[in-house]
Amino acid sequence: MKETVSKEIYEILEKSKKIAAIKPYKSYEMSLEAYNKSRKFSLKTEEGYSLVAMAFACRAKSEISQMLDCSLRALEIFEDTNNADGKMKSLNLAGIAYFYSSMYEEALRYFLEVSDVAFKQSDKFMQSCVMNNIGEIYRESSSNEKALDYFFDSLKICQDNKYQMNEASILGNIGEIFFNEGKYDESLDYYLKSYDILVEKNDMLTMGGIENRLGKISFSVKDFMKAEEYYFRALNRLEEVNNKYFTIDVLMNIAELMFNKNDRKAFVYIEKAMSYAEQINAKKKMCQVYKYISECYECEEDYKSSLEYYKKFYNINEEITASNLGNKIELLNVELKYIKANEKYEKLKTRLQEEISAKTKELQRIREANKILEKRAYEDELTGIPNRRSINFCLNNTVEEALTNDDSLVLFMIDIDHFKKYNDCWGHSKGDYCLKKVADCIRNIQNKRKDTFGRYGGEEFVYFAKSIDYEQSLELGNYIRNEVGKLNLYYTSNGQTNAVTISIGGVTGKAATLGSASKIMEAADKELYNAKEAGRNKTVLKLVD
Ligand code: GH3
Ligand code: MG
Ligand code: MG
Repeated sequence: MKETVSKEIYEILEKSKKIAAIKPYKSYEMSLEAYNKSRKFSLKTEEGYSLVAMAFACRAKSEISQMLDCSLRALEIFEDTNNADGKMKSLNLAGIAYFYSSMYEEALRYFLEVSDVAFKQSDKFMQSCVMNNIGEIYRESSSNEKALDYFFDSLKICQDNKYQMNEASILGNIGEIFFNEGKYDESLDYYLKSYDILVEKNDMLTMGGIENRLGKISFSVKDFMKAEEYYFRALNRLEEVNNKYFTIDVLMNIAELMFNKNDRKAFVYIEKAMSYAEQINAKKKMCQVYKYISECYECEEDYKSSLEYYKKFYNINEEITASNLGNKIELLNVELKYIKANEKYEKLKTRLQEEISAKTKELQRIREANKILEKRAYEDELTGIPNRRSINFCLNNTVEEALTNDDSLVLFMIDIDHFKKYNDCWGHSKGDYCLKKVADCIRNIQNKRKDTFGRYGGEEFVYFAKSIDYEQSLELGNYIRNEVGKLNLYYTSNGQTNAVTISIGGVTGKAATLGSASKIMEAADKELYNAKEAGRNKTVLKLVD
C-alpha cells in the first residue's frame, strides 16, 4: 500500500515541477496534495520532497518567505533522515530565497553548505547548480571576474556530464556578464550557444528570455531590424506560454525601439507593459514602466501625464524600499523559527535577532521619511522651490486655464548674471548659498502676489503670473530684478567687485496668442538671450498681440 502511495506521490511531484514556471499556482496545489498524502501515510522522505516542490512553486509565485519556510521544514526532515540529496535541495532553495531578497551573505552561507555536501557526495549535478548560484551572487555584487570563475567551472561540469539545461542557463549567465560589460560579440556568442540548446529542448520560457536579450544586443549595436525581429519572436513565444512577467521586459524594449524611430505605436506597447505589470502586481516592473512612461511623456512635452506617472513611480518606488526591508525581516524571522535550541546555533541566533531589530528600526525610519519625501519629488532639493517637473506641470495648467478664461499672462525666464564668476570667486558651496538667497528673495515676491515660481535648472528660474498687462509685467520684472540686486551678494573678478544681478527675458499677452506652454518658454528664452546681449541686469519683455 505504502509503496503505491509513494509512487503516486513522486508522480504528482514530477508533474508539479514540470509546470512550476508556467503555472505556479497549480504547481503549488499539486505539491500540497502530495504533502498531505505523505503526512497521511507517514512517508517522511516523500513529505520532505513535497516541501521541496512547494518551495519550488513558491519561488515561481514570488512568495519568498513561504519559500524559505518550506525549504527549512524540508531541511529538518532530511537532516533527521540523513538524506544528503534532500538536504542539498532544501539548502539550495533556502539560499535562493535569500538571493531573491538580495540578502547575499545569508544566501552564500547556504550555498556553501550545499557545496560542502555536494563535494562530499561527488554529486556533480548539485555541484554545477550551486556553483552557478554562487556565480550569480558575485554577479549581483558586481564582482564580474569572480562570477565568471564560478560560471566557467560550473559550465565545465555541465559539459562533461551533459547537463544540458544547466549548461544553457549558465551560458546565458555568462552572456549577461559580457553584455553588462559592453562586450557584445562575446555576449552574442554565449547567448547563441545557450539558445541552440534551448531550441533542442524546446524550453519556450527561457528561449523567449534569450531572444529578448539577443534583441537588446542588436539594439545596442544599432542593428534595429534584427532587434525588432528578435523582440517580436520573444514576444510571441512568451505570450504563447502566457508569462506576463518576462513579457513586460520585451514590451518595454519594443517601446524603446519604436521611440527610437519616432513611432507613436511605442505607447501601445508601453501601455500593454503597464497593464501586465499591474495585473500581476509586479511592483519592480511597475516602477520601471511608470518611470519610462513619465520620461516618454516628458519628451512629448505632455507634462501633465509625465507628472502623473512620475508620482506613481515615486510612490511605488518608496513602497518597494519599505517592503524589501519588510521581506528581509520576514525571512530572518522564518529562519529564527527553525533554529534549534542548540549551543552551536546560539551565536547565529543572536546575530539574527540583532539584525532583525536593526532592520525593523530602519523600516520605521523609512516609513516616516517617506511621508516627507513624497513632497520632495516636486521640489528642488537645493532651494526648496518647485522644480522643473512641477513648473512644467503648473505652466500647462495655467495656460489651459488662461485660454478658457481668455486671460492674459506673463512668463519670465530669469538667469543669474556671471554666476560662473561668483562660483570661481567663492567656491561652489557659497554658490549654492547664493542660489538659495536669490530663490528666497523671488519666492517672497511670488508668495505675496500668488504667482508661480520655480527653479528650471542650474542658475535659471521661471516665474509666471496671470491677469496682467504689459505695463504691469514690465514693472513686476524690474521689481524682481531690483530686489535681487539689493541682496548684498558680491563677487570679485579681475580685481573688480560686482553685485550679483539677474537678467530677465519675458513674454506677455493673451493666452490665445501666446500659444503652447513650450512655445511660451522658447519665446521667453529668446528674450533672455537679448537681455544678456544688451549688457545683463536688464528686463527685456516682448508683447505678443
Ligand atoms: P551668464 O551671465 O551668461 O549667464 O554667465 P554665467 O556664468 O551665469 O553662465 P554660465 O552658463 O557660463 O555658467 C553657469 C554657472 O552656474 C556654471 C555652473 O557651475 C553654475 N551652476 C549651475 N548650477 C549650480 C548649482 O547648483 N550650484 C552652484 N554653486 N553653481 C551652479
Ligand atoms: Mg544659464
Ligand atoms: Mg547665468
